[in-house]
Amino acid sequence: MRRDLLKTLFSRMLTAYLTITLGLVLAIGVALVAMLREQGVRQKSAELQRELLAIGGVETEVVQGVKSRAQADIELQTIARHYDALIDVYHVGGAGEHYYSTEKWRILSARTMTEEELSKLVSDITAGQKQTTHYFSDVSDLPVLTNYALLTQNGVATHVVLFHADISPVYTAVRSAAMQIGLIAMLGLLIAIVAVYYTTTTLTRPFMEVNEIVQQYSKGDYNARIPVSDTEEATQLALSFNAMADQLKDLEATRRSFVANVSHELRSPLTSMRGFLEAMQDGTIGPEDYGKYIGIVLSETRRMTAMVNDLLDLARIESGKTAIKLEIFDINELIRRTLITFEARIYERRMDVDIKFAQEQCYVEADNAQISQVLRNLIDNAIKYSPEDSKLRIATYALRREVYVSIQDFGQGIPEEDVPHVFDRFYKVEKAHTPSKQSGTGLGLSIVKRIIDQHGQRITLKSTKGKGSTFTFTLKRAPSPKRQQQQDGGRQRYGIQ
Ligand code: ADP
Repeated sequence: MRRDLLKTLFSRMLTAYLTITLGLVLAIGVALVAMLREQGVRQKSAELQRELLAIGGVETEVVQGVKSRAQADIELQTIARHYDALIDVYHVGGAGEHYYSTEKWRILSARTMTEEELSKLVSDITAGQKQTTHYFSDVSDLPVLTNYALLTQNGVATHVVLFHADISPVYTAVRSAAMQIGLIAMLGLLIAIVAVYYTTTTLTRPFMEVNEIVQQYSKGDYNARIPVSDTEEATQLALSFNAMADQLKDLEATRRSFVANVSHELRSPLTSMRGFLEAMQDGTIGPEDYGKYIGIVLSETRRMTAMVNDLLDLARIESGKTAIKLEIFDINELIRRTLITFEARIYERRMDVDIKFAQEQCYVEADNAQISQVLRNLIDNAIKYSPEDSKLRIATYALRREVYVSIQDFGQGIPEEDVPHVFDRFYKVEKAHTPSKQSGTGLGLSIVKRIIDQHGQRITLKSTKGKGSTFTFTLKRAPSPKRQQQQDGGRQRYGIQ
């Protein structure tokens, strides 16, 4: 996997970089070589043109009788040797002379121009042509640069001079320059490969790290974290990934403790129930005690049913399947009704219930059934975690947009370190799992929190160990439907009149 990833990215980037580099080097190289070649030929041509003037001067002097033919021949021979060139001097309408010093020109010098060719050349020169590089291409591979000039006397063409120079040194120089460019290009390519390798490994490192760590995660080890890298994007990736890993770790821990808790919560009552039933069956518990133990078994069954119901509620709320059905109702009325269902327990524990409603009626917009469950869970806890003869205070007060509902008990309270966790699933302050009268499922408050969250409201907890707890939650305030009705009715009456 690691190698494949590197291979793909590396090879892709390398191909892209190399194509660009090669293309650029090739284009620049070709242009540079062509330029050097042209420059070399132009320079040589200018030199030959200058020398053509000298040759023309010599021939003119011969025509004028200033110089003998023999003297002129020596001078032309010298020039030819100096330039390692072939000089052809054609008398218009007559024969031609050839001057050269090295053997390579001998064969080429034999290629004399016909009358026709000569007159064509004369007209070419008159038309302004000065040079050609293909003069001997039909008989030799030697790269030759030919410059020509027309000598005239009183406006009449007398001689055509062709100055052929071997330009292979120019070509050789250009070739060696091209080789050097090629070498530099190779070096550039090598540097590009190293740079691409470095860049891709830096770029792909976070991917590999993520990949390796994901593999660890898939084995259930959520402790590995990606080291924060040097590039901005990789740092972002690492931070996001690590944050996700933290969440996964928490989720996994929650899941594990959830499963452990559920199993434990179900196993303990099942084991005790089986114990009692077996004891009844084998006679360890006599028929006279049946009533007592059947009572215990029943209460355990109730507890289990309650837990399974809680679990189902929680699962439903968390999966978002329970859409909240908003309606307008009087929260004070709901509190009174809920309290009635606790009447027996309140009476049994001789609790003093203190109700403080700021307004007689307090209308809210919420899901009646769900808020009823919130109240039940909170009041149940308040009773459960308070000693006998203590007080339970329930208060509501309305602000402009919100209604505050608080349920306060003066019971055992919650230690400071547990307060942030009591809304977590299965969180219980008293860690002992021995079923006692008090012990619940640890799900009640998480259900409360999810319901309040779903309503887009808040719930807070203030608690002091040994002194009691106050749970306060908010609800959306709604206008009183009666007043609304009265207003509507008034308007109607007005309408009839
Ligand atoms: P349970 O079903 O165990 O009551 P909850 O989610 O309702 O589960 O509560 C979680 C834990 O918070 C309880 O186990 C208990 O320790 C603590 N708790 C909740 N309400 C109160 C309260 N009013 N007074 C003291 N402790 C409380």
